[in-house]
Amino acid sequence: MATPLTDQEKRKQISIRGIVGVENVAELKKGFNRHLHFTLVKDRNIATPRDYYFALAHTVRDHLVGRWIRTQQFYYEADPKRVYYLSLEFYMGRTLQNTMINLGLQNACDEAIYQLGLDMEELEEMEEDAGLGNGGLGRLAACFLDSMATLGLAAYGYGIRYEYGIFNQKIRDGWQVEEADDWLRHGNPWEKARPEYMLPVHFYGRVEDSKWVDTQVVLAMPYDTPIPGYMNNTVNTMRLWSARAPNDFNLRDFNVGDYIEAVLDRNLAENISRVLYPNDNFFEGKELRLKQEYFVVAATLQDIIRRFKTTKKGTPVRTSFETFPDKVAIQLNDTHPAMAIPELMRILVDIEKLDWDTAWDLTKRTFAYTNHTVLPEALERWPVELLEKLLPRHLQIIYHINQVHLDRIAALFPKDMERLRKMSLIEEDGCKRVNMAHLCIVGSHAVNGVAEIHSNIIKTDFISSCGDLSVSCRPLQAAPGYHMAKMIIRLITAVAEVVNNDPAVGSKLKVIFLENYRVSLAEKVIPATDLSEQISTAGTEASGTGNMKFMLNGALTIGTMDGATVEMAEEAGEENLFIFGMRVEDVAEMDKTGYDAMLYYKRIPELKHVMDQITSGYFSPKNPDLFKDLTDMLLKFDRFKVFADFEDYVKCQEKVSQLYQWTKMVIRNIAATGKFSSDRTITQYATEVWGVEPTDLKIPPPNEPREAIEETARALKKM
Ligand SMILES: *Cc1c(COP(=O)(O)O)cnc(C)c1O
Repeated sequence: MATPLTDQEKRKQISIRGIVGVENVAELKKGFNRHLHFTLVKDRNIATPRDYYFALAHTVRDHLVGRWIRTQQFYYEADPKRVYYLSLEFYMGRTLQNTMINLGLQNACDEAIYQLGLDMEELEEMEEDAGLGNGGLGRLAACFLDSMATLGLAAYGYGIRYEYGIFNQKIRDGWQVEEADDWLRHGNPWEKARPEYMLPVHFYGRVEDSKWVDTQVVLAMPYDTPIPGYMNNTVNTMRLWSARAPNDFNLRDFNVGDYIEAVLDRNLAENISRVLYPNDNFFEGKELRLKQEYFVVAATLQDIIRRFKTTKKGTPVRTSFETFPDKVAIQLNDTHPAMAIPELMRILVDIEKLDWDTAWDLTKRTFAYTNHTVLPEALERWPVELLEKLLPRHLQIIYHINQVHLDRIAALFPKDMERLRKMSLIEEDGCKRVNMAHLCIVGSHAVNGVAEIHSNIIKTDFISSCGDLSVSCRPLQAAPGYHMAKMIIRLITAVAEVVNNDPAVGSKLKVIFLENYRVSLAEKVIPATDLSEQISTAGTEASGTGNMKFMLNGALTIGTMDGATVEMAEEAGEENLFIFGMRVEDVAEMDKTGYDAMLYYKRIPELKHVMDQITSGYFSPKNPDLFKDLTDMLLKFDRFKVFADFEDYVKCQEKVSQLYQWTKMVIRNIAATGKFSSDRTITQYATEVWGVEPTDLKIPPPNEPREAIEETARALKKM
């Protein structure tokens, strides 16, 4: 039962959730009814819960618009250094509640909706998740946009407006089946299309006198989404590009009789932004994916350069690029937008006519790169053959970058051919490929991993390890990982069937596989969790982010010393986590001596029992061999050496069960999570990488005169 709040607690709640003024509530109700009538064209007799959600979303959106325009006016006036976060994924989830919180409107909206006789939770459930991401990488991008706005940075997120986001997962008879995520079906009240700012993106063609000619054009249409900061009147922009065929697409080449065919072919161009690749930590070398990567990069750089050249009325237009890195910071979220490096070089050298060395200096000072994994199957290595076909001029530029790079290394380490081979941007063994991580490292002034241990692994092992996967030019090895993932889900649902129907434990213990995990489900599950299991083999999980979310929300952690869990143990004290298993050094040692799963299987009775149960068909009586691939993998080819940590894991779980001082430990954990706020991360990026300062200056709200903006802009310049 909830205990009544003290006055102090009530005041605190109000400051977080916003003040409930009578006028406020009346105003919101008026807005709601107006939108139900004029925007949704419904009355209360026939309106559905979805109509009510849309009416509320539009009402809340109205409160964003003035601040959004104001913020952009302020940036135009103050001309601060802009930060551009380029990402193929933005896993935003839902927008309504976050907007209400950040504008301080939550309490007033709750009251308004209550007075209208509606149920806020029911309305919120009508919102589709913006699932434009696979997991941690995309969610990180979303959190960073949030923090950049809260810290008052002049920041922009740039990505793709996928028509279909991450698939909806259904479980049928224990198996995963995928459904298309048609998230835009009912319309998206948070985006604003900007067809007037459409930009051309070129593909294919050939190079003539260092010029890219005879290309095919696709148009990139921007859709803007507001990103409000927390209670600071800042509203930044996430700009997502959608592919559009030019109106003359294919028509030039056909006579009148082929008109219908030619119009139908427009889909070919527009497929570029159709669907998010559902690959988490896996490189699938498909041409369409490379098109997506270049599409976002080419449109975004045109936009960035247009904005760089635009100055305040009455001041000269910028023509020199000398100050470009002082005005522009571009962060690459993994190698997915890596083509931005040769693209900026192409613009500076081919179009703006700068000499190579000047252009390279500016490029390097502009870009910074975040690596997300060291697992070889995730590293992007695009076949030279494909680049030559799709982006021939960029391939030439990459070759030139590599030439200068290797000349420098050869001068520093004469006759060290092995070093040249390892550090080259071009892998020569097997099929010729461009190593995109190497391109990013060479083209950036700052490189980081996503946790301290991961950054250290990059520094010591990465360059030498990421050229060691010999692969053919055919699309890589998707099948096995995908198959194993599905079989693991099937095993969980099979174990659930047995456990949940067991007469002895069935009423006390349930195994549940949560269907369709996504941001809005995480928001419910994470606060409800008691024990967070972070059981990756040390050195394989770059950071993990769920680990920190669970910690902040009062779960305790059983985990290996991997990724951010290492820093969690450092902050909270190792005695307040349940740490087990090999350390990175132990795994490295085992790599030398060898890992034999059979040894553990034979020695540990519990492990043998579990494996024998699975192989004997205990969990799949109708099909005893169902999990053979899975058990074979564990016993014969397990790259992750999981049996090596099994015994220690079981022992550690016993400690978890015995522990009685749970609450004290939970509090110690929550109190130690300060470091894991993305506001802290972004403050560090701002000062150490981007060369900008977070500010708590408040942009004047829309009801204050325009001069207030100029005044605040002057104040910012003085800081
Ligand atoms: C945080 C989050 C992830 C990533 O979790 P990890 O622990 O970093 O793998 C994936 N999906 C959703 C919905 C999330 O919120």
